[in-house]
Amino acid sequence: MTNSKIQVIRPDIRAMSAYRVAEVPPDFIKLDAMESPYDYPNELKAQLGQILADVPVRLYPHVSHCDLLPLLHQTQGIPETAAVALGNGSDELIEKLTLLVAKPDAKVLAATPSFVMYRVNAELFGMEFVGVPLRDDFTMNLDAMLAAVETHQPALVFIAYPNNPTGGRFAREKVEAIIQAASGLVVVDEAYGAFSSDTFLPQAGAVENLIVLRTMSKIGFAGLRIGYACGAAAVIDELKKIIAPYNMNQLSLAAAAFALNYTPFIAENISKLKAERERMRTALRSYPCVRDFASEANFLTIRVPDAQILFDCLYHHKILIKNLHGTHPLLNQCVRITIGLPEQNQAVLRVIDELYGKQ
Ligand SMILES: *Cc1c(COP(=O)(O)O)cnc(C)c1O
Repeated sequence: MTNSKIQVIRPDIRAMSAYRVAEVPPDFIKLDAMESPYDYPNELKAQLGQILADVPVRLYPHVSHCDLLPLLHQTQGIPETAAVALGNGSDELIEKLTLLVAKPDAKVLAATPSFVMYRVNAELFGMEFVGVPLRDDFTMNLDAMLAAVETHQPALVFIAYPNNPTGGRFAREKVEAIIQAASGLVVVDEAYGAFSSDTFLPQAGAVENLIVLRTMSKIGFAGLRIGYACGAAAVIDELKKIIAPYNMNQLSLAAAAFALNYTPFIAENISKLKAERERMRTALRSYPCVRDFASEANFLTIRVPDAQILFDCLYHHKILIKNLHGTHPLLNQCVRITIGLPEQNQAVLRVIDELYGKQ
């Protein structure tokens, strides 16, 4: 079909493969996408239902008129001086921040392996993506990063803090050194900030080239699609120019504001997940053939003798995890397991014990 009229679609896009979202039957335990296992109790569900019933869905949303921005400032530790842009998930903000610098010769840089959307967006907007490999233990190779910053002069550097899919948090001093050395924007993506022992949020607004990205997805509200970028007004004002005027929706703005009015529910779940993460890590350490890596996120990345066999065994027990093997050379035989409810984590440990307990 060489004359097909859809040949007008960019060849590089036609050559891309779609981001695969795993689909499993509803009775599966889903530990592949860092979703929270905690649902609202019935009482809060009923209250949310009432609130959503009164949302004026016939009107376009006005972010500046809704309660969400002040609530984010009050509850999430965003400095008063930082400007904030809301996105339909932080995914949208990653896209728009990339578009913001998309000139023909501009480059985007990140330590790899990291969040795949950094590369996808850079290439979609016609820019070269420079990936600087982490060390074998998934720590950042600062010398290599600084050398790459010097050589490539990237317009945009992404640092996932903590990193996905490896789970660890890079040393703060290394990230500071990159923010200083960079000649362009540095996005510190704190999608897992709630599970981490450190944050760059206090610096948002005070450091000209720093943008701190946050999301409500990993703290229990992935379905709402609420992300936010915090930084200096000089940058955030430009970002807002290229975000569609009505990118957010009334229902999710109202649901997010409701969520932030009940922060004890969120805080309690985060602390349960962090405790479970440490319990899991300790348990996994008793298997000599399992290599565990430090995590400050709501998942653990481990290396096992055969990642596909572990994936298949868990799948057989109706547990879905993420097999990272083959996605990056450093992730050889690695899998990523989202922390779930204690009994779900226990189910994972039972399968691991069946496989590796007698070795
Ligand atoms: C999950 C994730 C995101 C995307 O979050 P959304 O707000 O759901 O779009 C961004 N960055 C990293 C590193 C993530 O792991």
